[in-house]
Amino acid sequence: MAKPQKINDTVSYQSNLLNQMASSNTQVENTVFNAHDITKVYEMGEVKVHALRGVDLSLYQGEFVVLLGPSGSGKSTLLNILGGLDTPSSGTVRYHDHDLSIYDDNALTTYRREHVGFVFQFYNLIPSLTARENVALVTEISINPMTPEEALRLVGLEQRMDHFPAQLSGGEQQRVAIARAVAKRPEVLLCDEPTGALDVQTGVLVLEVIERINRELGTTTAVITHNAAIAGMADRVVHLSGGEIGEVKTNTSKLSPRDISW
Ligand code: ADP
Repeated sequence: MAKPQKINDTVSYQSNLLNQMASSNTQVENTVFNAHDITKVYEMGEVKVHALRGVDLSLYQGEFVVLLGPSGSGKSTLLNILGGLDTPSSGTVRYHDHDLSIYDDNALTTYRREHVGFVFQFYNLIPSLTARENVALVTEISINPMTPEEALRLVGLEQRMDHFPAQLSGGEQQRVAIARAVAKRPEVLLCDEPTGALDVQTGVLVLEVIERINRELGTTTAVITHNAAIAGMADRVVHLSGGEIGEVKTNTSKLSPRDISW
């Protein structure tokens, strides 16, 4: 911002400054995650694998972020650390006012159970339980859950509640997995290659469900993909390579999943 020369300029300089401060305060207040200088080194005997090399990343309330990068670039490691499935070797990860990097296993389990929904490439449904029963496994132990029926309606499976996984297509099984992840109303939804095992048409249906949950429930959502086409759906696209964040791009307009193909 240019320094003021005249009185009118001073007023507008001050008001711009106030606006900037207000917007950066809003962003700070809306910060869900703040990862600072995190590294992850996996020690495999003599060999050390540097999965993350000093990553800084904040995620904000209600945004839809795509983590994009080639296989082995550290995307899952980063997502797992944000979701409390793993811990960094160094650096800090804050979830609101809580420092996850010093949490023990019990504290991480409680954090995950109360705040995080996960969706993985493979659906991990229990084959001997119906869609409704698979979702009920989570709702029975949650504090303020939706009913399994509500969650399954949200993903468009109201007609299939009493079907077993083997009676559902891959995309439908993934939608049950999403219903299970969101039924506890998590603040954060973390998806690791959610369309990785699906054809384009089915993948689009799954992306529509994830986009709807982000939009209607305001769930902060991070989706890992190596598929650049999906990046068009995001508010922000974070590129990873070699365990580091490269470009972070904000999309000025977002694509609907229907406009995406790969
Ligand atoms: P991406 O999700 O981008 O494919 P990952 O985060 O899965 O990348 O992996 C980053 C690097 O860390 C890779 O070299 C991978 O082999 C390694 N890695 C990931 N998890 C482990 C683990 N549990 N033990 C050892 N190495 C691992």
